[in-house]
Amino acid sequence: MSTPRIGVYPGSFDPITNGHLDIISRATKVVDRLVIGVAKNTGKDPLFSIDERVEMVDTEVKLLEKAGDAVVEVRPFDILLMDFAESVDASVILRGLRAVSDFEYEFQMAGMNARLNKQVETVFLMASDRHQFIASRFVKEIGRLGGDIGHFVSPRVKQRLVSRFAELSDEA
Ligand code: ADP
Repeated sequence: MSTPRIGVYPGSFDPITNGHLDIISRATKVVDRLVIGVAKNTGKDPLFSIDERVEMVDTEVKLLEKAGDAVVEVRPFDILLMDFAESVDASVILRGLRAVSDFEYEFQMAGMNARLNKQVETVFLMASDRHQFIASRFVKEIGRLGGDIGHFVSPRVKQRLVSRFAELSDEA
């Protein structure tokens, strides 16, 4: 039997969207084991704590209809991505690519990561048309202003967002 191919899908998942889930489902066709790495330090002042983000990803992944057979696990990380990949024996980093907006950032990151570790390849996946444009940042903006985010996240994540915004407006 050949060695199982292990992949890491890193992100901030603040919160997990249907776009992320689309990529995760596709990734299960590409690797045998998929480790979803939830970045502790996002540099983006996250709306949800690391524990909340991991818990939401975990719940959604358990309910996800996978396209492939990969075993999926969710882990927080706060080290260099390449060190995290090495710590789980991954040979592939999986990233999602949205139209042109992600290209420059992803291109630079993949290039620099390749310099740090030549053994690990970055592979880009595209979500379906209806999930292409979803970004956590916009979901949060729409949710904060009371717009309907039901098309972009699961009913559970939607509820978490509604509650978080209610807490924040109570504090204000
Ligand atoms: P976001 O950019 O929405 O805050 P993350 O930082 O958690 O999300 O992104 C993790 C990875 O998932 C990145 O590679 C990002 O490009 C990808 N991704 C996020 N949303 C989508 C989407 N709707 N379609 C394709 N890829 C996506």
